[in-house]
Amino acid sequence: VDVQAVSDALAKEPGVVYSTNYQYMCSEAGQNLIKDAVKEYGLTGVVICSCSPRMHEGTFRKAAEKAGLNPYQLEIANIREQCSWIHKDMEEATEKAVILARAAVAKVMLDTPLTPGESRVVKRALVIGGGIAGIQTALDIADAGYEVDIVEKTPSIGGRMSQLDKTFPTLDCSSCILTPKMVECAQNDKITIYSYSEVEAVTGFVGNFSVKIRRKARFVDEDKCTGCGACTEKCPVKNIPDAYNLGLSNRHAAYIPFAQAIPNVAVLDSTRCIKLTKGKCGLCSTVCSAGAIDYEQKETFVEEKYGAIVAATGYNPINIDGYDEFAYSQSKDVVTSLEFERILKADGPTDGHLQRLSDGKQPKTLVFVQCVGSRESGSQHGCGKEYCSKICCMYTAKHAMLCREKYPDTDVYVFYIDVRTPGKNYDEFYRRAVEQYGVHYIKGMVGKVAPQADGTLDVQASDLISNEQLHIKADMVVLAAAIEADKSARPLATMLTASMDTNDFFTEAHAKLRPVESPTAGVFLSGVCQGPKDIPETVAQAGAAASKVIGLLAKDKLSCNPCVSHSDPMKCNGCSSCANVCPYGAITYEEKDFSRRKDGSMIRRVAVVNEAVCQGCGACTVACPSGAMDLKGFATSQIMAEVDAICK
Ligand code: FAD
Ligand code: SF4
Repeated sequence: VDVQAVSDALAKEPGVVYSTNYQYMCSEAGQNLIKDAVKEYGLTGVVICSCSPRMHEGTFRKAAEKAGLNPYQLEIANIREQCSWIHKDMEEATEKAVILARAAVAKVMLDTPLTPGESRVVKRALVIGGGIAGIQTALDIADAGYEVDIVEKTPSIGGRMSQLDKTFPTLDCSSCILTPKMVECAQNDKITIYSYSEVEAVTGFVGNFSVKIRRKARFVDEDKCTGCGACTEKCPVKNIPDAYNLGLSNRHAAYIPFAQAIPNVAVLDSTRCIKLTKGKCGLCSTVCSAGAIDYEQKETFVEEKYGAIVAATGYNPINIDGYDEFAYSQSKDVVTSLEFERILKADGPTDGHLQRLSDGKQPKTLVFVQCVGSRESGSQHGCGKEYCSKICCMYTAKHAMLCREKYPDTDVYVFYIDVRTPGKNYDEFYRRAVEQYGVHYIKGMVGKVAPQADGTLDVQASDLISNEQLHIKADMVVLAAAIEADKSARPLATMLTASMDTNDFFTEAHAKLRPVESPTAGVFLSGVCQGPKDIPETVAQAGAAASKVIGLLAKDKLSCNPCVSHSDPMKCNGCSSCANVCPYGAITYEEKDFSRRKDGSMIRRVAVVNEAVCQGCGACTVACPSGAMDLKGFATSQIMAEVDAICK
């Protein structure tokens, strides 16, 4: 864009008294230019032709305000993202920039001074998801003295980290570092844990959200249960795949998810419990000395108010059943990395012994395959992801190392596309696997894993460096399955009016400048729900999200966006179209008397906007058939003036 030409063209527009061109308008010198011009020319409006208002609208508004202008009498014509970045022809782009700027001038002429209102901040936060991200966020918020609730959909907090054995890069025991934090959450009187619960509905706005939480029926009284496990021992239903062990072992219908569960309270599986499905049995109740079993328990709902909400809903490995070439569904000895993690862990299905799941024998040759379902273009398997899952290079090095350390007689091969180790001490960690532990890293693709009659697995692969075709006779194959956002994240994002990327990870307000905030004010992001990351990164982000929440809760009042809807009672016919589309529940109705004598003969029902609740989305202005709704700062007259200026 020839910016000088835009400035020159604008100088000739009716109503424009001053037009200039400066390269760094957002800098201090640029802002001073705005202030000086407002004062010198007595301006009643300012148009900045620059980048998206998402970047610097606040900066420019403050500059205008300092010069004595109402900050809402400033408009931005986005000639960067909507013009210079997307056009190649300079002449055409310049012409378009002039048109965009002219439209902004037409709008600013009709701007009126606006004053933000104020709303009180509820000093309580909600964290959705009780993995390490949610736990750390909640602890940090509570540490600052604010009350915080954790809503966790499973019966215990802990998330995926509770299933891990040792953790890279330091190889410390996952439970040893996680369990104290879980206990701290349970014991902190500022933290309330709603386990086995889900968010049902969210209304309201930053500083004042109303949230309905559904507490699923455990059929066990949480206050009475001591976690003794007597119900579990006596329960005759024993063949239910145990989710904690990813289905590699079974659990009872009455169960405690894992030994360190918080809360350490049993749950009855309502789909399998004989008493709950057939009305018979009842053994658990007879052995429960605390009298905690309650077959009549119903789900309940809690309604709470929060000033801020943090999404921390984490991830799951993708389902790799469709990857037939790796024989995952055909052989018990082809496992995912998370399943392998359970095999290595002392409380796992093999009590921490490295064993083949088919015959219990210790494998001698193990093959690890990285990038299964990650970095996949096209959808040949229907579930592959184009992104890098980021954690698997490191946990594969960890697994390979742990195998060689505990079982030095094993041969360990890792097939990789590239090894990605960009964290602190990460490359050193990977090199230790190669140099100190003698793990064979092969740059290559595994084409097929073929189960053999003798119980071994023929791993057929190409070595991309030597160009050789390889056959490795393996006892066990471990697949680093891609990770994906939890399936509940999308409906949750809809409830929170937060946005998601094409992979269903929550989108940040600005990738570089606001990485832990969602674009929806008051909704923050923590952990893998925003994108793949390991524990150190998750914990860092959790702390960052907590500090944003603390900053918000520290305020008693927030100034509200004054660009809100208002209704003209003379035009309103009370049809409810606006209330039906308002996502914030900001519109109510009242009876208004239009008669002079007030004899009741002219009473009509009209819409009234609660300005503290309205977020200025404008949906009502579009829905209203009688043109009674208008948005301050984006009035219909202003939009039409912009359209006229564009079409001129
Ligand atoms: P999660 O652990 O997934 O927790 C999310 C929580 O939110 C879960 O409890 C879930 O039930 C809950 N939830 C989801 N949706 C909802 C909802 N709608 N309502 C309420 N609750 C909800 N990282 C390392 O740094 N070192 C390692 O050695 C390591 N090894 C790994 C090995 C494997 C095989 C894998 C797969 C990962 C490994 N990681 C490792 C990564 C680590 O697991 C993650 O970084 C970490 O678990 C992310 O925590 P999170 O809280 O964001 O997500
Ligand atoms: Fe592949 Fe490594 Fe990325 Fe995982 S982290 S997808 S193994 S490159």
